[in-house]
Amino acid sequence: MKLTTDALIIRENNTVGESDRFITALTRDHGVIRASVRGARQLKNRNGSATQLLCYSRLSLYKGRDKYIVDDAEPLQVFFEVRGQLDKLALAQYFCELAGVLAPAEENAEEELRLLLNALYYLSEGTRSLPLVKAVTELRLLCRAGYMPAVAECAECGMGECTRFSPLRGVSYCEQHGGTDTLPLTAGALAALRHIVYAPFEKCFAFSLPETDTAVLGNAAERFLLAQLNRGFNTLEFYHSLQ
Ligand SMILES: [Zn+2]
Repeated sequence: MKLTTDALIIRENNTVGESDRFITALTRDHGVIRASVRGARQLKNRNGSATQLLCYSRLSLYKGRDKYIVDDAEPLQVFFEVRGQLDKLALAQYFCELAGVLAPAEENAEEELRLLLNALYYLSEGTRSLPLVKAVTELRLLCRAGYMPAVAECAECGMGECTRFSPLRGVSYCEQHGGTDTLPLTAGALAALRHIVYAPFEKCFAFSLPETDTAVLGNAAERFLLAQLNRGFNTLEFYHSLQ
């Protein structure tokens, strides 16, 4: 069966065979797939550059019994600016690793794909700070995967004015009900958290936040992610090692 779909290459592995490349791609129509690209590492192979990490490409695929084979790859966008700066590249690789874990397999993943493309666009353009792009990408990917935090009101008394957040329970609390295992939330960080979680997709990056609030938001988002997924990420540790 032959398929055509747009995809972001989220992982490339060149150690298999002599000239083949093995990729993981976040596709619009079939979610996360693994595929081999025959001869991708030969100099004249036209599919080679379009199947590199962080390439957004139109893939023509053959679906075999248990894997995909890339028949043709046409580059649609290459995020050169992201590749050229180590901190941006590290963050982009973390987004790719996250998508590989959180995006669905064998089903439509258009919103996850658009989210990553938007994140890479903002990293390229430099119009949003790295910590802000990181928090939005983490939280929206988590929401799509079924880990939506409840931050509209205090989980205990229903008060709207919240100042604490529990990464483990994924809920916000008022000053009175937030226990010692919760994180502080500034008013700005709370407003941003609510915006990211509850806004329509088109608006999820459409806000600005002072640096101090962004740090509070970023800490809450990352701690929430790590607590919910109960695992670490090498790419995240590498990103932090650059700070
Ligand atoms: Zn309360």
